[in-house]
Amino acid sequence: MQILDGKLVAANINKEIEERIKEQNIKPNIAIFGIKGDEASNTYIKRIEKNCQKFGIGFNLFLAETEEQFKANFEKIKDDEKITGIMFQQPLSKELSNLINEIPSNKDIEGLSNANMGKLFIGEKDAIAPCTSKAVIEVFDYYNIDLTGKKVVVVGRSNIVGKPLIPQLLQKNATVTICHSKTQNLKEETRNADVVIMAIGKARFLKKEDIKDGAILIDVGINFEDGKIVGDIDFEDIKEKASMCTPVPGGIGTITNAVLIRNIIESGEKL
Ligand code: NAP
Repeated sequence: MQILDGKLVAANINKEIEERIKEQNIKPNIAIFGIKGDEASNTYIKRIEKNCQKFGIGFNLFLAETEEQFKANFEKIKDDEKITGIMFQQPLSKELSNLINEIPSNKDIEGLSNANMGKLFIGEKDAIAPCTSKAVIEVFDYYNIDLTGKKVVVVGRSNIVGKPLIPQLLQKNATVTICHSKTQNLKEETRNADVVIMAIGKARFLKKEDIKDGAILIDVGINFEDGKIVGDIDFEDIKEKASMCTPVPGGIGTITNAVLIRNIIESGEKL
């Protein structure tokens, strides 16, 4: 089985980013809005800050004590011309999360607003796709995997992975099936698929008896098991039967980080 190496895909995107920065005199400058106090998301934000420093991207973090302060910070900054990209640090209340739809769509670097999702579905060129869904597409592009006429089954229907994959896979002429926790005969669906994309958050869920010979597998899942990160696919179990698979770690997560930075660079190019 061939391992679809996320580090190679990410390195290719990073090279593109460096070239674009060199070629153009752009000044990407992002603002992140959040509420003080969540340790897990602090780690995520620190990684973004480090990446911004690496590529010379302006980084502005607005952590509020209260929801009112969050709204005031966001109101003041969102239309500032010097800020090219905006994102929110999750978790947030539903009311604050909904403010994502007030981010100007060209500054929505995570592609999470209704406007960008709508553009993605009707195939507008300037749509920004949610980074993780785009990371999956990057794997097919990097490894020249032609999805034309292929039966692609996506397991998971979240707004950041499963749903935004629908238009992107259709664009690649795949026949797309989306499965979820209420799907009947899930195994039958995955067993008939040429490509299975797993995004459910259940450790080592997909086994060799759930796939057909030579299937191509993409693992979006991130699960913690005995202090280790594992995916939704039982990698050891499937490796004699699948033809290709992304690993966890070193797969989709690694590419997602690079896609976000590229979105930030592109936001600098647009303004
Ligand atoms: P989510 O919002 O929690 O949604 C999970 C989806 O999986 C739901 O659609 C759910 O169905 C479905 N599901 C759960 N159990 C199932 C089962 N037994 N059989 C079939 N479907 C089932 O998930 P998410 O935010 O998309 O994240 C999914 C996984 O990807 C998580 O492990 C997450 O950590 C990981 N992730 C990775 C990255 C990355 O960069 N690699 C980024 C984001 C997320 P219902 O809709 O019916 O409930």
